[in-house]
Amino acid sequence: MKKIAVYPGSFDPITNGHVDIIKRGLRMFDELIVLVAYNPNKNSLFSVDERIEMIGEVIRDCKNVRVDSFKGLLVDYVKGAGASVILRGLRALSDFEYEFQLALINRRLNRDIETVFLMTGYKWFYTSSTIINEAASLGGSVKGLVPEIVFYKMQEKYRSNKEKS
Ligand code: ADP
Repeated sequence: MKKIAVYPGSFDPITNGHVDIIKRGLRMFDELIVLVAYNPNKNSLFSVDERIEMIGEVIRDCKNVRVDSFKGLLVDYVKGAGASVILRGLRALSDFEYEFQLALINRRLNRDIETVFLMTGYKWFYTSSTIINEAASLGGSVKGLVPEIVFYKMQEKYRSNKEKS
């Protein structure tokens, strides 16, 4: 039977840290679904459609991976997709508590689904979409931290946001 994993997150935008987890996840699972979650609590830079489009470009040449979005309960999506694993990445200790809580609630909601964690690549330890957005919004270069296409989309976005204000 095919082992399918779902890698959920905000991906606002997708960073090289995320890409690292996707590539390593693909070595463990037959199929990976990168799932853009709607998070009403987070102020987003890119719309869900823009994020999906960027992820699609980034994974264009990778086999066995696709991108999707979902609004409801994660475990329902996972079950509906015929998957049995939620893939998550772990960076610093600060990720741990939140990830632990999330894994436990998802396990309680559906015991057939396991959360699997991959440690971040050491280069991406401090890479988060939030920090990258903050640096970029202040004019800092984030080249090398995000895929090239994302880098240009961010430049465009900050330019148009500046023009609007
Ligand atoms: P963030 O906004 O903090 O970057 P996301 O919600 O987009 O987070 O992240 C989705 C998943 O990817 C989470 O499990 C998160 O811990 C993981 N992740 C994010 N950045 C990295 C990174 N640099 N290395 C490893 N995992 C990461």
